[in-house]
Amino acid sequence: MTTEELLQKYDMTIGIECHVQLATNTKLFSATDNDARDKAPNSVVSPIDYGLPGMLPVLNRAAVDLAIKAGKALGSEVARVSRFDRKHYFYPDLPKGYQTTQMYHPIILAGEIEAPLEDGSSVRVRIHHAHMEEDAGKLTHYGDYSLVDLNRAGTPLIEIVSEPDIHSAAEAKAFATELYRRMTFAGVTHGDLYHGNMRFDVNLSVAPKGASELGNRAEVKNLNSFKSVEKAAEYEFRRQAELLEKGERIVQETRGWDDAKQTTSSQRSKEDAQDYRYMPDADIPPIILTDEEINRIQSEMPRLPGEWRELLRGVGLDHLQIETLLDAENEYRERVSILTIVESFIADTAKAKFVAIWNVNTLVPLLRDESFSLGAIDVALLESQLYDLMQSSKLSSNSAKAVFEELIATDETVDVEGYAESKGYIQESDENAIAAIVDEVIADPASAKAVADIRAGNDKVIGFLVGQIMKKSQGKANPALAQKLIRERL
Ligand code: MN
Repeated sequence: MTTEELLQKYDMTIGIECHVQLATNTKLFSATDNDARDKAPNSVVSPIDYGLPGMLPVLNRAAVDLAIKAGKALGSEVARVSRFDRKHYFYPDLPKGYQTTQMYHPIILAGEIEAPLEDGSSVRVRIHHAHMEEDAGKLTHYGDYSLVDLNRAGTPLIEIVSEPDIHSAAEAKAFATELYRRMTFAGVTHGDLYHGNMRFDVNLSVAPKGASELGNRAEVKNLNSFKSVEKAAEYEFRRQAELLEKGERIVQETRGWDDAKQTTSSQRSKEDAQDYRYMPDADIPPIILTDEEINRIQSEMPRLPGEWRELLRGVGLDHLQIETLLDAENEYRERVSILTIVESFIADTAKAKFVAIWNVNTLVPLLRDESFSLGAIDVALLESQLYDLMQSSKLSSNSAKAVFEELIATDETVDVEGYAESKGYIQESDENAIAAIVDEVIADPASAKAVADIRAGNDKVIGFLVGQIMKKSQGKANPALAQKLIRERL
């Protein structure tokens, strides 16, 4: 059966868990450096991180502040009281013997987010909760032995747990992408996916359409790209639906994703919650937050993706333009904050719309070009001047684009009109000057046939005359004005 046919017969239900690495300087319970990238194994780890007997963890306040920000970005309430529990399990990358996490009283309560899909529609996904916890170390397997690196041990995370509100692979990808956007815009994480700053677990079950109960689910762990979230969901739906077609049952289990083969494979059967022997962590006092501090931290946050979408829709942008700008903001924020530029023109809607679309069509493609280097020039000022020159008909859109591409790589802010003038880009909008050329072209014997045609009512030929005028003016005549003058005369 094709996937299409299986989708006619079966529904998929997906819940997603996402671990987000918090952008703190130090770890969750120790003063150790939180940046483990490119560090020698076991070089950024303290006795607190690996639980040497006698150690005493101290909660990192910066991690709590980021969790408060994450709460707003998830459309969730932040708990006034939350606390840590110990989750016991044995694994070589966890020498403490337990992970410090929040099982019973998480810091982020229920919420809901809306994730846009590529077709312009959107999916609403409720957030069950999100809790703070520490990361474990990393095991690397070599033939018949394995090595442990504890640099990641104690790294602060929040784990976001969604409700099972997702019903297609495309929705799963949209949700993962939206979480990423929200967490990065909120400054909660650096969002370095390559280094595992956000990891997604996809819980998927399949049931015949209309069934009153969900099927057994499989959990695909540790996906670190939006594409792999989508592909893993597609694969798991097919695998489970095919088993049901054969009359077999689905085993509840944890599966891994093989990115090279684009398949999942069984890792272990899923533990039940009681296997972990959760108990309150007596070393760490509860986190008690006041309304005032939650409000203060959340009110100082930059604009979130939902707020940007609303602002950009107000300016007159469509869905694709908006999402392109949001993506570009994340990608190029350190070089140029495109959204901040658009925002700076917000008092003049027409100008803001022009600048926003200009950035979508002209600046973003340049930024995507690896050979392009952005100068230190004030981009907002440059775009503002180009807009004004186009409004006063001194620059055609083609010339404006040429001027932009020539100046965007420079470091200093120049007088854009003076520059365009010196390069011969300024178009002639002086009616008398153009009128003289128009008269010349109409009187030219080479134009006789076109002139006769236009007089006879064939309007299309007007383009030929405008072309002649452009040629005679060396491209500087304002074509709209030239056309108007021809019509007046014929
Ligand atoms: Mn977890």
